[in-house]
Amino acid sequence: RKTFTGLALLLLVCVSASAQQTSISKKVEVLLAKMTLDEKVGQLNQLSGDWEATGPVTKNTGDKLQQVRDGKIGSVLNIMGENHTRTFQDAAMKSRLKIPLLFGQDVIHGYSITFPIPLAEAASWDLPAIERSARIAATEASAAGINWTFAPMVDVARDPRWGRVMEGAGEDTYLGSLIAAARVRGFQGRGIGSTDAVMACVKHFAGYGAAIGGRDYNSVDMSLHALWQTYLPPFKAALDAGAATFMNAFNDLNGTPATGNAYLQRDILKGKWGFKGLVVSDWNSIGEMIPHGYAKDLKQAAETAIKAGNDMDMESRAYIGHLAVLVREGKVPIATVNEAVRRILTKKFELGLFDNPYKFINAAHEKATLNQPKNIEAARDMGRKSIVLLKNEKNLLPLSKDVKTIALIGPLSKEKWYLKGAWSTNVDPNDNVVNIYEGLQNHAPNAKILYAQGCNITDSVATDFKEAVETAQKADVVVMAVGEDIFMTGEARSKANIHIPGVQEDLIKAVVATGKPVVVLLMAGRPMIFNWTAEHAPAIVYTWWLGSQMGNSVADVLFGDYNPSGKLPMTFPRSEGQIPLYYNYMNTGRPATGDNDAFYRSSYLDVPNTPQYAFGFGLSYTTYSYSNISISKTAIRKDETITVSFDLKNTGNVAGEEVAQLYIRDMVAQPLRPVKELKDFAKVKLAPGESKRISFKLDKEKLSFYNDKLEWITQPGDFKVMIGPASNNIKLEKTFQLIN
Ligand code: BGC
Repeated sequence: RKTFTGLALLLLVCVSASAQQTSISKKVEVLLAKMTLDEKVGQLNQLSGDWEATGPVTKNTGDKLQQVRDGKIGSVLNIMGENHTRTFQDAAMKSRLKIPLLFGQDVIHGYSITFPIPLAEAASWDLPAIERSARIAATEASAAGINWTFAPMVDVARDPRWGRVMEGAGEDTYLGSLIAAARVRGFQGRGIGSTDAVMACVKHFAGYGAAIGGRDYNSVDMSLHALWQTYLPPFKAALDAGAATFMNAFNDLNGTPATGNAYLQRDILKGKWGFKGLVVSDWNSIGEMIPHGYAKDLKQAAETAIKAGNDMDMESRAYIGHLAVLVREGKVPIATVNEAVRRILTKKFELGLFDNPYKFINAAHEKATLNQPKNIEAARDMGRKSIVLLKNEKNLLPLSKDVKTIALIGPLSKEKWYLKGAWSTNVDPNDNVVNIYEGLQNHAPNAKILYAQGCNITDSVATDFKEAVETAQKADVVVMAVGEDIFMTGEARSKANIHIPGVQEDLIKAVVATGKPVVVLLMAGRPMIFNWTAEHAPAIVYTWWLGSQMGNSVADVLFGDYNPSGKLPMTFPRSEGQIPLYYNYMNTGRPATGDNDAFYRSSYLDVPNTPQYAFGFGLSYTTYSYSNISISKTAIRKDETITVSFDLKNTGNVAGEEVAQLYIRDMVAQPLRPVKELKDFAKVKLAPGESKRISFKLDKEKLSFYNDKLEWITQPGDFKVMIGPASNNIKLEKTFQLIN
């Protein structure tokens, strides 16, 4: 009876959802029929506002408001907050058809409360926590008038020189796909009609993370096999999670700019994958097809983009300037324009903007929603979950709360703004950021904290570190806050040298030479290189940029209020010359042996093939043991599922969470498969001495791959299953056979 009611309810929900869809598509057709060609083109035009969350309307904004009243703008970005969104929506309500505006914004890691940068969050491997932080960002942003975030960025990134690695989930396709879906669920909440949701925009479609040499905007030259196998799955996962919109990309993919790429947008996204939402260009990326050398002028760029499936034009003014003429000249079919307009109007209806254009514009609600204490607490929690403990000699950490004197040394000790990381909305003042100094003070109120800056981040000449050294000598323990600045990662922030900038590693050497116990905090939006520190510093904590609550999150870990559980989502190389370096490479016919005397091997003469820190690596204040692996079958047919189980035990003295990882290797395959592929993981909480039996399931989906005809296949043969705490630290192994 219960099941029957459940089924009936489900049916009712489905029927009413599809009825709503039918009624929306009817409404869209009615409206479309009333629209002039110019009004249609206006809906495809997106322009940027003035980035102000508060303050007076500028002259530039005034001109834009007129364009809105004239029906020439369908969406604006960089207009935030009740007051500004209201001003713009008022203008839209004065246009002939009163079509509401869509407000888009880069809400990348929090709106008012800044959360850890996405790469840092990925280091938590904690999908519910990642979803929650996107949920909070959406709750805040939607209360401030925003309907649409240009996130998540799901570009797989295997080159730490690329400054935009900070915006993604790192190098792995499987982990990246799960995180992509979690972020979409978080942003869109109960669905884009609800008052606390924003539309997600999955970007950058596609291949952007593989820019040659890690140089932003550069060409992407990759096999279709790599595209399908490694780079597309996170997009597909985000789509399956219900993502409402997609953004294309600046790069060319094998010679065709992504924005003008019909294979990507028409064949794959809207064709094979059946995507019903809207595709927006990247900032001026339609116009940039001219310097690419793909279009001779803006008119040809507009024609190319719309035909390739790009619905909305962000900032190029290519559509607004040329599309109507192109239609009148018969170069672009009106049906192509109608299709793009339909996709945009549909989203505006689904958001409920036609019922109430001011649905998300409400000063009291905005004020009540931003910066809620429980959400600030969630940011702090996300921060500590994102931290990765890289080294902890002689259990220097956690620090005792009774410590008498702490020396805090380094240029990031008292910094606030940088701690937010790139792509913060900067809506909230920087004095709401808790810096490292304050975090330490909050945790050890009786300790004396001595401070020395030591040097600036970018100093290129080693100065006298006398003050820093003397400060260290006076303390029981030294904490160093060093790393990059906020301008070194993010868009257009590629670097050829990713060592700790300037003379900061010399500062570390000078301070470590005092013989004092030294904890090095490394802050950056990317993996850095720090060979000396890795070898000689007693304790290393990789903190990334953790946002508003960074000081508290870091201190929670330093003093043991939180036992670190983060694991690296990207490989840390030893040298820039090894890049790209990632864990799931293919073997060569002459694999490196690790023996320098072995000749004619696929290795370097001067640097080992191994990374400084491997994908999946991260320490804890406790220890874990992996034992008793069992496998449900030794041979399976392709439609069967196999279960791999093992005991995970906390063998230390404090509670902790371990990210246990499962990798597979398809031993013989055509085309060949990587030496390791992450296929599952579990983040497991364990009290001291506690043991849990963990099970992972492997099914056909996880054993399949693309063949050279781009068909998704399984191939019979032997598989190895590997389980452990990091990609380079496998504790348990089993093999099984896949039979046809
Ligand atoms: C970036 C996008 C971003 C857009 C809007 C572009 O420069 O590549 O990721 O969403 O600007 O700010």
